[in-house]
Amino acid sequence: MYLAGPSGCNSRDETSIDDAGHSALSPFLTHPLITLTGMRIGAHVRLDSDPIGFGEKLGADVIQMFVVDPQSWDKPTPHPRTEEILASPIEVVVHSSYQINVASLNNRLRMPSRNAVAQQAKAAAELGAFGLVVHGGHVRSDAELDTGIDNWRKLFERQQDKGGFAVPILIENTAGGNHAMARHFDSIARLWDAVGDYGAGFCLDTCHAWAGGEELVGAVDRIKAITGRIDLVHLNSSRDEFNSGADRHANFADGTIDPQLLAEVCRTAGAPVVLETPADGLAEDLEYLREHV
Ligand SMILES: [Zn+2]
Repeated sequence: MYLAGPSGCNSRDETSIDDAGHSALSPFLTHPLITLTGMRIGAHVRLDSDPIGFGEKLGADVIQMFVVDPQSWDKPTPHPRTEEILASPIEVVVHSSYQINVASLNNRLRMPSRNAVAQQAKAAAELGAFGLVVHGGHVRSDAELDTGIDNWRKLFERQQDKGGFAVPILIENTAGGNHAMARHFDSIARLWDAVGDYGAGFCLDTCHAWAGGEELVGAVDRIKAITGRIDLVHLNSSRDEFNSGADRHANFADGTIDPQLLAEVCRTAGAPVVLETPADGLAEDLEYLREHV
């Protein structure tokens, strides 16, 4: 359990979401360490109607957003602030909706999932996003694992015939389930044998790795040895213990992951970092990173 609070609490009023000004006043964008290391750090947007305003208040370099209600099968519609999003220096990545499971052997789930990935990738491209995050998904038994992997391969193969996806697809590791496609790193290795040649990207979620039973010490190197790349980091602590299989994100000060390990992942991944931690402690989480990376 993490005990120490962020050491920079005295400057909290400069970085809290409520009090912060826009980017010109943000200590985050102007922090020399961030600038010198070229790190891009931000968060998942919790105000879909004004994603850039949300990002500016946080001093984010990068934001992640949905293009549909994540619990729905809705088809994306053009974002009313598309021009503002395209014009902003804040980078954008899109997270796909939660229903999607391209690994599934159930046609009635897999087919809409394939369509949704293609549609949401197109909507992501229209916002200038650098990728679309898609969870690895799961099958129902060990006997289905090979077919699940092949379903991932077919997602890319079939889309290639249509000219490919509009943005890179970033496959995210997941925390739970015994038949997940991307929980354990050895599963990810099997998946990558099938999809790596299609240019699949990878999103490393620290909460999911930890709760899924993968040590974070050396995780960046181990994943890169498998995928050859990390395109995005979801930097989250976990409410649950190592290998719990539970997907519940926590703020750095409340979670079970040593925040120094999180800072280490942030430092070494060489990829944009998006926090998906609870809103209440998000500003403090960013403050911690600002001080420790
Ligand atoms: Zn995530």
